[in-house]
Amino acid sequence: MQTESSTLVARSPQVTEFLSKPRKLLIGGKWVEAKSGKTFKTLDPATGEVLAHVCEADAADIDEAVKAARAAFNGPWSKLTPSQRSRLLWKLADLLEQHTEEFAQLESLDNGKPLAVARIADVPLAVDNFRYMGGWCSKIEGNTIPLSAGNNFLAYTLREPVGVVAQIIPWNFPLLMAVWKLGPALAAGCTVVLKPAEQTPLTALRLGELFAEAGFPDGVVNIVPGFGETAGAALAAHPDVDKVAFTGSTEVGKLIVKAATGNLKKVTLELGGKSPNIVMGDADVEVAIAGAAHAIFFNHGQCCVAGSRLFVHEKLFDQVVEGVAAKAKKIRLGHGMDSGTQMGPLVSDEQLARVTDFLNSGVSEGARAAAGGARHGAQGYFVQPTVLVDVQPHMKVVREEIFGPVVTAHPFKTLDDVHIAANDTIYGLGAGIWTRDLSIAHRLAAKVKAGTVWVNCYNVFDAAMPFGGYKQSGWGREMGHNAIDLYTETKSVCIKL
Ligand code: NAP
Ligand code: MG
Repeated sequence: MQTESSTLVARSPQVTEFLSKPRKLLIGGKWVEAKSGKTFKTLDPATGEVLAHVCEADAADIDEAVKAARAAFNGPWSKLTPSQRSRLLWKLADLLEQHTEEFAQLESLDNGKPLAVARIADVPLAVDNFRYMGGWCSKIEGNTIPLSAGNNFLAYTLREPVGVVAQIIPWNFPLLMAVWKLGPALAAGCTVVLKPAEQTPLTALRLGELFAEAGFPDGVVNIVPGFGETAGAALAAHPDVDKVAFTGSTEVGKLIVKAATGNLKKVTLELGGKSPNIVMGDADVEVAIAGAAHAIFFNHGQCCVAGSRLFVHEKLFDQVVEGVAAKAKKIRLGHGMDSGTQMGPLVSDEQLARVTDFLNSGVSEGARAAAGGARHGAQGYFVQPTVLVDVQPHMKVVREEIFGPVVTAHPFKTLDDVHIAANDTIYGLGAGIWTRDLSIAHRLAAKVKAGTVWVNCYNVFDAAMPFGGYKQSGWGREMGHNAIDLYTETKSVCIKL
């Protein structure tokens, strides 16, 4: 791990302008202050500096936003044809793409991630998702069904939008998480009330401005930043919300399920992970080392799919651990807007405290840091990229999601040993397998309980590929056709002829 001092990329005039005013809530097509008059600050996690003041929604504002979403759902939005909805989504994608640099800068400042990553990953993936989902609008079809009840019936199904959807998202990919949820909801014909994470509301708010510019009717998308315990809880419990789609921690996911029981709204959940990354004895070692480092250190380990448990065949264990540790030590930490930065800070002081607590607990339970192991520097929320060895299955660092740049490394002997160890977790989101043996790849991919299994690659996402979790990593899937299904209801129509 290294730190380099160089100058920060200059903020674009649009970014400076956006940050110069308090940011309001988007409700019914209008930018409004919170009814309470309250605001909160969003910070640059590399410095602790205030970036902007943001109006803070609570239950009263959520109620207004749900009313606006309902009015749009019953009104102008339902009158548009599928191809009109497609064109709006494609226009939105074009606008987002035209503003790539502005969105990348806002994301880097608010979240701390390197600007280069936001430019090549977060924003383009968001653009692509809107384009892909825009294509679905005109392809949401039902079936005709032959009934054994008799030949004098005609039965068919309709796929209809679920209705008003609450979407609650985290801070690790603020724009992309918003788009993963908005794209399929809008393609299916739903209207939305979106609550961004309190730590990173800026790109969702800027995106809010593009809906009007693209020509979406007022109220189709409402954006209400605020705190989880107030705004988020009010949304999840709201009696006129038909579905809640949540991405965040498993702990809060369980609260969402409880809150949703009042009106039994539909629930989809994308939750935590403790993903196994498995290096078989026949793997290409250099490729596996680079892949293992990327799997845990990308986005500072703040990925729900982070490859946080590295299982390495015993004959390659020392070599792979040394290789990943060497890469960890070379990662340049710095401000996200510094062009030399490879890893930025964690998102908040709370996450810094959480991750360093995990590091201390690991060492006190007998683990050893082959790289890193502590906070980095005194300013900002930086943590050293860390590789922990001498770990045991019962340790907290092995069992719980750390959500930081910390990997535990475990040697194994046989395929059976490793598949059992890999599945020894309450989570089931992602997994990686590094091997040159096609048969092992397929056999292990079938045995690992995870929503996504990457073989000889990691962190490959595509708008067409379903994503979600087994076990306590979630309910339902995002992206691909599955996402559309989860924003529609199936209606059977049965006619006696
Ligand atoms: P979090 O604390 O669960 O927060 C996620 C969102 O829920 C935030 O908008 C939060 O608002 C809100 N929230 C908090 N308490 C709430 C409540 N009682 N009712 C309704 N909403 C509430 O998660 P986080 O720490 O921000 O994010 C990291 C977690 O997200 C990790 O566990 C990670 O694995 C998971 N994640 C999963 C995926 C996936 O696709 N499976 C993707 C990314 C992240 P505030 O911000 O105001 O607290
Ligand atoms: Mg939070």
